[in-house]
Amino acid sequence: MSFAFIFDREDDVYQFSYCYPYSYTRLQNYLDNLEKRNMDYFSRELLCLTVQQRRLDLITITHPDNQDPEDTKRVVFVTARVHPGETPSSFVCQGFIDFLISNHPVAKTLRENIVFKVVPMLNPDGVYLGNYRCSLMGFDLNRHWQEPSPWAHPTLYATKNLLMEYDRDQKLVVDFFIDLHAHSTLMNGFMYGNTFDDIDRYERQSVFPKLLCANAEDFSLANTNFNRDAVKAGTGRRTLGGCLDDNAHCYTLEVSFYSYQTSSTGQAMPYTEEGYMKLGRNLARTFIDYYKLAGVISAKPSSSIVPKPITYRRDRNLQERSNSEPQYDDKHFHSKHDRNGR
Ligand SMILES: [Zn+2]
Repeated sequence: MSFAFIFDREDDVYQFSYCYPYSYTRLQNYLDNLEKRNMDYFSRELLCLTVQQRRLDLITITHPDNQDPEDTKRVVFVTARVHPGETPSSFVCQGFIDFLISNHPVAKTLRENIVFKVVPMLNPDGVYLGNYRCSLMGFDLNRHWQEPSPWAHPTLYATKNLLMEYDRDQKLVVDFFIDLHAHSTLMNGFMYGNTFDDIDRYERQSVFPKLLCANAEDFSLANTNFNRDAVKAGTGRRTLGGCLDDNAHCYTLEVSFYSYQTSSTGQAMPYTEEGYMKLGRNLARTFIDYYKLAGVISAKPSSSIVPKPITYRRDRNLQERSNSEPQYDDKHFHSKHDRNGR
């Protein structure tokens, strides 16, 4: 591939990037802004520092009533940016968080019933340095989940230890581990899962991708596949699928670097930042369908109430909310509007 470009303004800085940039600084600004809002269902902790002393953030989103250590709680654990070049995964992750902290009725119900844990950037040094796939020390971290080293892979070490701690805790049930990635050759959003000899377990695992497909027009079941290739043994999805409780569902969620094709039109639609964030919102609201099916949450509210985009304004390089909180006015969500393509 080649292209011609004219640098027509001498005092401008031009940048070329593979996809929409999402830097470590951008994440820190985003999380700082969320913290300032003092939401009682949102907390941010420092899980560890990286080799170059950057933050490994852990976000918890749940109703404050779920803080009681005596109650049994269900945990959904989401991670992103273990591969630093895969910026779309950060937009998906931000959409996921934005939805869960919103006043959308589905988000409220999910917070009341589930504890959401998010590690939004598993490889902060790699992201800061502009690496495509590796950490500072040259490791592809998504091949080192089996035995992460506290000095060579501190972020994996801390994240895996935390998950194992949750797994041992009698009061916590880790239902999901989902690692967000971006794919450079395939289109659409899709999932990788594990295969098991136990048919029941295998079938249980295919439920969530089907529900997500019903909610996200860019999600492809055709690209979704379950495997146990030797080359993927050190990935988060494979390793945790082997060491978490048998009832935990472990997936990699991939999203294309470039476009998606919908079944209705067959036309390739280029992904935008908003398109990636929308996939994150759809991922979040799919948990209401799953937990209704599992009998954990009763019939209301419905995920057919479609979350609308959150508007951001650009302030230098910072992204801030235009409103203090995204508004989900019920009037916007009548099915009549949905049918009209709103
Ligand atoms: Zn990846």
